Amino acid sequence: MNKQPRIRIADTAGFCFGVKRAVKLANEAPHKYPGQQISTLGPIIHNPQVVTQLSALGVKPTDLNHVPEPGVVIIRSHGITRELAQELKQRPDLTLIDATCPFVRRAQEIVAEMSSAGYQVIIIGEPDHPEVAGLISYGDPQNTQVVTSLADIPADFFTERKSSRIALLAQTTQSQQLYNEIASALLAVKGELRCFNTICTATSNRQSEAIQLAEACDCMLIIGGRNSANTNRLYELSKERLPDSYHIETLADLHPEWFSGKQAIGISAGASTPQWLIDEVVEQLQYILKN
Ligand code: SF4
Repeated sequence: MNKQPRIRIADTAGFCFGVKRAVKLANEAPHKYPGQQISTLGPIIHNPQVVTQLSALGVKPTDLNHVPEPGVVIIRSHGITRELAQELKQRPDLTLIDATCPFVRRAQEIVAEMSSAGYQVIIIGEPDHPEVAGLISYGDPQNTQVVTSLADIPADFFTERKSSRIALLAQTTQSQQLYNEIASALLAVKGELRCFNTICTATSNRQSEAIQLAEACDCMLIIGGRNSANTNRLYELSKERLPDSYHIETLADLHPEWFSGKQAIGISAGASTPQWLIDEVVEQLQYILKN
């Protein structure tokens, strides 16, 4: 008789502090503001299942042009641009609930502080990500830039420096490895380098544990929204080490053939993946393995 593979679930799988806080504020809003129209600026988190659940409670994602007024608007954990924050504050019929994660807020403050002090601010991140759009808006465009890799830093930066002072930080969900690589390279530049490691520990711990699991298992499932940057990063890290790594959103994405002949199946999940979704996948996986 074939022995059933072992299932190993990462302790760090699922909601992080900032996401828990944002989802809690969104769930509480209909009770706190009964009868009012409540919206979130964009999906509250990058998880379609959670967004659907909240919509059923009357908390719906929208964009700036369609925010119902009067009404309540929730700023999600990624934060928003400085200009948008100022505009929302000027609308008298809007009540704001700011669910910006305190770690993201701290990174915004660093950009503002370093840029206004004249540092060349380098943000490691995905330019199209809402958190990064928010971060860059706190700096002066003349001295604030986003890079996705070391290659994005112009070569002449290392030879004919425009600024003698550099401040380095990262989108909170960036890879620690990439941050270290860029920080080490910038050490070669003459002048002052200030490194702010704004990658939050929730992310780095989750990444380390996913790597450990991928190295110890022969199949890996990463659960989370396809539009979730931190889930995609977990998947990439796992896939680099273990080709039999799969990114799934729900139990409907599971394929029984993935688990044939496996000894150990590791599971991790992005910071925006709710516990109930992880539980559903584990239950379905147990069912598949038994049958
Ligand atoms: S990953 Fe970290 S920074 Fe991002 S929302 Fe969660 S706790 Fe905040």
